[in-house]
Amino acid sequence: MKYCHHCAAPLVLRIPEGDELPRHCCDGCESIFYQNPKNIVGTVPIHEDKVLLCKRAIQPRLGRWTLPAGYLENGESCLDGAIRETLEEAGARVNVQESSLYTLFNLPVINQIYLFFRAELSDLDFQPGAESEEVALFSQAEIPWDEIAFPVVLTTLEHYFEDIEQNHFPVRMFDVHHGDNRTITTKLISHSQGTAD
Ligand SMILES: [Zn+2]
Repeated sequence: MKYCHHCAAPLVLRIPEGDELPRHCCDGCESIFYQNPKNIVGTVPIHEDKVLLCKRAIQPRLGRWTLPAGYLENGESCLDGAIRETLEEAGARVNVQESSLYTLFNLPVINQIYLFFRAELSDLDFQPGAESEEVALFSQAEIPWDEIAFPVVLTTLEHYFEDIEQNHFPVRMFDVHHGDNRTITTKLISHSQGTAD
């Protein structure tokens, strides 16, 4: 961020009075521009014992498999955003239960928060959207476990197939740490009692 959105004056990065973190400040009109984490919302689309995955047609992780997810829009609820992304990326319509919220991931290093909801496919009339090369249903044994695009997706899928054995789906929150040598670890920091479907 270089120039003020209001008056086009150059911005200065400094800690405003009464604040604790550096912000982009405009000395022309005294505006302060705050940058906050982005929310990425998606679903675990389910049909019988299978989960719908999308093969990415875009970078990053082109050609790898992921759950349908994308940036939450202004004026949109997390759940509505997840349902919209599922339609956009997988061409899939879903039904959600009251206990749909499933996993939440904090990624402070890249300023993102991921939220996934469990959802039942309404029908099998799905097809790849613009950002997907292919969309397909996978049982636990069929999932290309070595070709999953993101650690948040891998962790969500691993828990899903464990939880389905118990028919018990707690809401879990994780911190995702980026270590040296591009290692990424996911640490469980909170989970609810959970509900059965
Ligand atoms: Zn300004």
